[in-house]
Amino acid sequence: MKLDIKKIREDFPILSTRIYGKPLIYLDNGATTQKPKCVVEEIENVYYTTNANVHRGVHHLSQQATDLAEDARNVVQSFVNAKHNHEVIFTKGTTESINLVAHSFCQQFCSEGDEIIISAMEHHANIVPWQLQESIRGIKLRVVPINEKGELKLDELKKLISPKTRLISVTYVSNVLGTINPVDEIIEIAHKRNIPVLIDAAQAVQHLEVDVQKLDCDFLVFSAHKLYGPTGVGVLYGKEELLNKMPPYQGGGEMIGTVSFKGTTFNELPFKFEAGTPNYVDVIATATAIKYIKNIGLDSIKAYEDELLQYCTDELTKIDGLRIYGTSVHKSSVISFLVNNIHHYDMGMLLDKMGIAVRTGHHCAQPLMEELGVEGTVRASFAFYNTKEEIDILVAGIKRVVTMFAN
Ligand code: PMP
Repeated sequence: MKLDIKKIREDFPILSTRIYGKPLIYLDNGATTQKPKCVVEEIENVYYTTNANVHRGVHHLSQQATDLAEDARNVVQSFVNAKHNHEVIFTKGTTESINLVAHSFCQQFCSEGDEIIISAMEHHANIVPWQLQESIRGIKLRVVPINEKGELKLDELKKLISPKTRLISVTYVSNVLGTINPVDEIIEIAHKRNIPVLIDAAQAVQHLEVDVQKLDCDFLVFSAHKLYGPTGVGVLYGKEELLNKMPPYQGGGEMIGTVSFKGTTFNELPFKFEAGTPNYVDVIATATAIKYIKNIGLDSIKAYEDELLQYCTDELTKIDGLRIYGTSVHKSSVISFLVNNIHHYDMGMLLDKMGIAVRTGHHCAQPLMEELGVEGTVRASFAFYNTKEEIDILVAGIKRVVTMFAN
């Protein structure tokens, strides 16, 4: 279905903001997306009408808040098509979800010398938690390299797998290159050898339909704030069998069965992994965001964003001296680039003065920058509320910067 972008943009009041007197062109959606009115209104509504701590009270408001938060779990379950709603754990973000798995999975399944495979295009959130386990438990990280288009070398992945491999943890979509990795193939390769797979879907769920049962991934993680939802909410999907075997990540209220000084028992899934008061208000608003994008339709979103990606790629390619990093045919709406020897910060700062918000720097992927032989890039990342007119303004802006530097 063709999207009515003008109407959609009315749902996002921030898009009519002016920056230095110019209309905002928001192309930093990979970092975080803007929020539709319904999400912000839901937060306000819960605080004004339903706020009470969840799972703890017999009183009416507490039960109402608990019902809304548990309904939100069902919404996420159906969004990723998990088999059970207790396979959906709420965290504070992708980063916390990966830290949880790194900690609890490694504690249960890894000993000194065991190996975890990641890739060269991972965000720091899918590198550092494993490095912490290297120093805690003496595990070893193995890294799948990429080719010149920014695609994973699957042959190398096969070679890296050894009897010591305990888990493969890879991103679905690169936040720098935009590459959509063949995660189905990776999961098949891994499962043939009984190795579980974690998929970092932080840059995927807002662009592609994700079905955890079809993929058969063992863990899948993402953040609500990149999915048009609030900050402070993340999701960890994990297969029941694995989650049941893993020890808790944090201790505190809610994750316990009984506590005594003689010993403590733990609650069942999902609460075993949700210590303390959860961010239930934002969890409820996350469900609102998911309903909002489901209503627009991920198929339509993907088709439109693909159009924007193609259009922007074509236009950028016409600029002399502009180099795009990440040229896979399987690509999501993220474009990293550099022009001539113009520093990415200079480009970003000058575009900002024109009202254009792009991201500059290493994008929390320093090992990838090293691999690409650059210190950083400029990144434009699109959402379904962006337009071709905005891309025209970006392209004109880049040309202006190039001229400034030529003079
Ligand atoms: N993985 C990827 C691929 C990302 O793009 C990001 C956010 N840039 C993260 C993990 C971390 O997400 P968060 O900061 O929301 O925890």
